[in-house]
Formats: sequence, C-alpha cells, structure tokens
Amino acid sequence: MTIKTSNLGFPRLGRKREWKKAIESYWSNKIDRDTLHQQLKDLHKENLLLQKNYHLDSIPVGDFSLYDHILDTSLLFNIIPERFQGRPVNDDLLFDIARGNKEHVASALIKWFNTNYHYIVPEWDAAEPKLNHNILLERLQYAQSLNVNAHPVIVGPVTFVKLSKGGNQSFEEKVETLLPLYKEVLQSFVDAGVEYIQIDEPVLVEDDSEQYETITQQAYEYFAQVGLGQSIVIQTYFERVNLKFLNRLPVKGYGLDFVHDHGNNLSQIEAGDLDKDKSLYAGIIDGRNVWASDIEAKKNLIETLSNYTDDLVIQPSSSLLHVPVSLDDESLDEDIAEGLSFATEKLDELDALRRLFNDKDDEKFNQFKARYERFQQQSFKNLEYDFDSVPTSRQSDFQQRKVAQQLRLNLPDLPTTTIGSFPQSREVRKQRADWKNNRISDQAYQTFLEQEIARWINIQEDIGLDVFVHGEFERNDMVEFFGEKLQGFLVTKYGWVQSYGSRAVKPPIIYGDVKWTEPITVKETTYAQSLTDKPVKGMLTGPVTILNWSFERVDLPRETVQDQIALAINEEVLALESAGIQIIQVDEPALREGLPLRSEYHKDYLDKAVRSFKLSTSSVDDATQIHTHMCYSQFGQIIHAIYDLDADVISIETSRSHGDLIKDFEDITYDLGIGLGVYDIHSPRIPTEEEITTAINRALQQIDRSLFWVNPDCGLKTRKEEEVQQALTVLVNSVNKLRKSHSKAV
Ligand code: GLN
Ligand code: ZN
Repeated sequence: MTIKTSNLGFPRLGRKREWKKAIESYWSNKIDRDTLHQQLKDLHKENLLLQKNYHLDSIPVGDFSLYDHILDTSLLFNIIPERFQGRPVNDDLLFDIARGNKEHVASALIKWFNTNYHYIVPEWDAAEPKLNHNILLERLQYAQSLNVNAHPVIVGPVTFVKLSKGGNQSFEEKVETLLPLYKEVLQSFVDAGVEYIQIDEPVLVEDDSEQYETITQQAYEYFAQVGLGQSIVIQTYFERVNLKFLNRLPVKGYGLDFVHDHGNNLSQIEAGDLDKDKSLYAGIIDGRNVWASDIEAKKNLIETLSNYTDDLVIQPSSSLLHVPVSLDDESLDEDIAEGLSFATEKLDELDALRRLFNDKDDEKFNQFKARYERFQQQSFKNLEYDFDSVPTSRQSDFQQRKVAQQLRLNLPDLPTTTIGSFPQSREVRKQRADWKNNRISDQAYQTFLEQEIARWINIQEDIGLDVFVHGEFERNDMVEFFGEKLQGFLVTKYGWVQSYGSRAVKPPIIYGDVKWTEPITVKETTYAQSLTDKPVKGMLTGPVTILNWSFERVDLPRETVQDQIALAINEEVLALESAGIQIIQVDEPALREGLPLRSEYHKDYLDKAVRSFKLSTSSVDDATQIHTHMCYSQFGQIIHAIYDLDADVISIETSRSHGDLIKDFEDITYDLGIGLGVYDIHSPRIPTEEEITTAINRALQQIDRSLFWVNPDCGLKTRKEEEVQQALTVLVNSVNKLRKSHSKAV
C-alpha cells in the first residue's frame, strides 16, 4: 500500500510575524507598494519551500493572502461593498474594505466557524459579479515556477454565499450567478496542469447543511458537466459531514476531518458510505492544536482507512493557519518541547508516516513514537485535585445577596462603570516591552504602573463614575497574562496565530496540571482601591475563556482542565476578597465562540461551562458582588446558561444590535443585575447624550430599573485617552439627567 501526503493551508504570518510587519509598514507609509509586494513574495516563497522540506505530494496555494482569503475571493468575483464600488480593484481597495477609511466603515469581521480566526464578510448589496484579476492563478504559477508541486485552494460557492450577507437574490440565485465565474477560475487551474483543486466547503459540517444539499448538488453537477469533476476535491473540516450525501457528488474525492468529528466520519466510512474509487483526503493530524500526535494511533487509522479507498492522501485536519509556524525558534524545556508539534513539525509527522508506509523506513516514525510515549509519562501532569471541596453555588440566592451587597456598596440609581481596560497607549506598551526585555527594573516598571493607575483613578473621579477599575495596564492580553502567572501554562516566544488581518494572538499552551501559586492581580487592584472611596472592581478572566483562547491539553477531558483553571481563578477571587475588594468581575467573552458546531453537543458544553464559572466564583461572601462580561450580540442559544452562571451583574455588548439582544433577554425572566453596553467602543466616534438616553430608556422598558447598570460595551484599551474621557463624560451626564427626572417622578 502506498499513501500520499498533502496540506490544506499554511500560516501566513511567517516565523517572526514578517507578514504583519510588512503589511503594517505599508499602512504607515514606511514602505511603498513595490516593496510590500517583494517582501510578501519572499515570504510566500519561504512558506512554500518550508513545506517542500517535508516531501509533500502537494502543497496548497491560495492560502496565502494579503489580509484574508475570503476577502480575496470577494474581490476575485467582484463582490464589492456598495460604498466602495467605482474604484480600481487593487490592494488599496482590499485594505480599505478590510479596515475602513475616512469616508466609509469597514466590512464586518466574523469568527471563522468555532476558531479565533476572523474573515471579512462579503456584501452582496448592489454587487455586480464578474471575474477580476485571477490572483489565485498568479500565485499558483509562482509556486510552479519554484518547482513546487502545488494545488490551488479556493473557498467553494456554497460556503462563500453562506458566509456573505446582503443582496436581494435568494441563496440559490447567488450560487448560480457565481458558478460560471468559478468555472473559469477552476478551468484556468486545470489548464495550468494541477492534479487537483481543493474546494473548501466547511459549511457542509454544520447542523443546517441539509438545507443546502440541493444547491450543493446542483453546483458540483454543473462543474462535472463542464468537465471539471475529476479535478475537484471537496474539502471539509472541524466536524463530521453527511457522507451519504457527499458521496453522491460527481467529484474526484473528499477531504474529511478525522480529529474533530467525534469519530463520526470514520464510522460512516466503516458503514460503507464512501465509494472505493473516490479519493479520500484524510485529515488525521490535528490542524488546530499544538500537540505531537499519537503516531502509533495514526498508523492504525491509516491502515483502517486504506481498506475503504484506492487513493488515500493523509493531511492535517484543517488548515495550519490556526497554529504557530515552527518550534525551531523557541528555546523550551526539552521535556515539554518533546510533546509539541507546530505547523512544520506536523508536516514532519506526515513525512514519518509516508516513509513508514511507502519506503518501509521506520526510523523517524520510531523517534516520534518514543517521544510521544515519554511525554505521556511526565510528572507535571498528575497533581492532585479535590474539586468537591470548592462550592459550585453561592451561599444565598440573588435576592438576599443583593440586599447584603447594596448595604455595603450603597450604589446610586443606574450605577455606572466600565469593562476593565483603559487605553494601552504607546507609552504603556513601551514600558511593558522595556521591562520584558530587561531594559528597565521591576521597580521602575511598578512605579510607572502605579502612576498610570493613579492618573486614571483621578480621571474616573472627575468624570463621576460609580464603580472604578484599575485599567489593566500591566496586561498584554487577558489570557496570556494569566497564562504567564499560572503553573501548567507555557508562554512561547514566537507562537503567534493570526486572529484577523495583521492582528495575531499568542495563545498560551496548557501542558500540565494548572495551579495557582501566588496572587496575580491583588497588588494593582488594592493599590487602585487605596486611592479612592469608590469601589474598585477586581478584574479576572474566566476559566472558559482562558481555556478557549489557549492551546488545550488533549490527554485529559476538556472539562477537567477547565475545572483546574476554575480552581485557580477561585483562589485569585478569594485573594482579592480577603484584600478588601468588594466587586470582582470574571470575564467570559469566549463562552459563545466555544459552542460546538453541532447542536447535539451544546448542552454538555454549556453545562460544563456553567459549572466551571460557578466553581471559580461561588466561594465568596454574600456581600461580595460578582460581575461577568461578555461581548457578542447573539445570546439566543445560550441565554439560559448565562442566567445559570448566577453572576450578580452581567455587562454585555448591545450597542450594535440593540433590538435583537433585548429580545433574547425577553425570552426568559432575567432577574439578575444587567449592564447594557450603551455605546460601541470599536468606533472612535463619541456617542451623543441623546443616543445613550434612548438606549437606556428602551432597555428600561424590559429590565427592572433596580437591576440595571450603564457601561460601554467592551474594554477601552484600543481607544485614545481623549475619546474615552469624552465618551464616558457623555455617558455619566446622560445618567445624571435620567436620575434627576426619575427622582422627581417618584
Ligand atoms: N476586562 C477586559 C477589558 O476590558 C474584557 C475584554 C473583552 O471582553 N474581550 O479589556
Ligand atoms: Zn468585551
């Protein structure tokens, strides 16, 4: 038996974020367009040649992009937002659609399925679909000129339309409009001599994919009629497909995820749902996590799969866009490094398997196997936990807690607060970088932080807010910061992953059992509290969000790791409480995005999320007020779970989708404290008093006034200082007027 190897996509960022640097230099006019192109071409070349080291039978092109591959596809098919139409289709247009310009707002950014990558939403309003410059062909030919055996990657018509918005046409009409344009592009690839085309249709793994089966079938039958069927591989990832349906489509083969499918893709194959003459592109190496594979198990999987297809190609389970590039640049403890696998190491695992099966060469395979086995035995993985010793519900119910808290806090009608962070100014970032690189002493850094905290306490006093925050100046990122302080987490040097555009995050890696060892936030919080009589909120990140935005362990059940984090956060909550902090906010902005793609797993996920949150927040006294914060606009599916968190106050983002949100909260009696984000912090625009008053009044029609708080809709770290001061002043003025008219009325 021989097998082939392939890849679905490679990180764009470069080993040291060269991609980000090139693009941002162009944006700030430090380099011109030709230089940008040259730098990106060099980087693309490096990416291709890096992959070539691992003897893949085929390497993807079309994954590389100037910003986002979905936006590339929109430009290719001329799906240009109405407000940007009439301009030449080039890089400057692309960047303006992605980032907005002085005249027009940017297109929306939405999370790519259940990942932390964000794509630019295509807009159909007034779009005039046609074929623009075929950048994908250009990139393909470039790869071919480097002697790289490449296959093009393009998002499929069904997924593209599903992810887009606007326009009067029906879903089917949009797909039908695109088909002849797709045909031309696909034909150009075939003419360039490619062996196959990877057409990404990840929407086929979603719950509602059945609704799209007819149009999917129509699209792929059309491609077959024009002679392209035998060049097409329909690629899916992140969950199972309906293989019986997929198998009917007249194409060369299918790409399936065998890591995140809960075993369902495999069982469909074993049930005989795949025709043997179809090619199977088997995603057997986890494309979304950083762990070395259990290579013996992969070998067995290959043997099983080879019974069901005459053409087996092994590859990662998804694009490697979601993992860092290479371990080579890190200097890690060898005991931990042995267990890790970034993008290039994953390709090396494929190479080891290829050698084993095709060349009967087991040397590399045995090395991987030995390392994997050693890593499983490491002692940092078996601390003892007593989960039952920590309560998972508060001593009293909300009504009683509310009385105790009000007695202590004595808050006014419609209390005002912010979400936690204040501007991370250039100076703040510079001081932190200087401290990290040992250019300034711990003492100097601490003094700087205290000055900045004191300055912002004064600003909050002047504006007249009711509940203060210290400002989070010491934090680079709300998850990485805790990752640096908790045992069991590893923070890498270059382990960046693209989040959107040029923005990258560096998720910490949870490699061992998680443990709290010393106070993390107490110093800054109590310092802020010492400067004012107003309550200062302690600010923590919750266990669900920390887990979702880290690379998680896979050798333990997810909920066990989440509960370990919850115990650690509970320790910090208690440390803040015993240091006299009266309000503690535990943020869970990632709770919604972690929701599994298939609804049959929702309940289990939400139950466990609620348990972990409560484990981290229930030990406090009745009089200690627990807040949480979430920023997304669709609460529908999770509203009951949010209520079950039993947080005394939740602050939520609503300013951009007001009506919808209130509706979600109408469906149940939400009788806990709730703070409405009354203005959009993502925009530099200063809200007017009238807008804020209207937003509050509208909400008060549904929410009990005694439960109601007023706040911006997220943290303010990306805003300028004067924007924050002005906007918060408007917010406080609006509330003061509402208070006056209310006290007159009663
Ligand atoms: N407390 C965090 C902040 O204000 C919350 C950030 C978030 O919701 N993503 O920055
Ligand atoms: Zn937020």
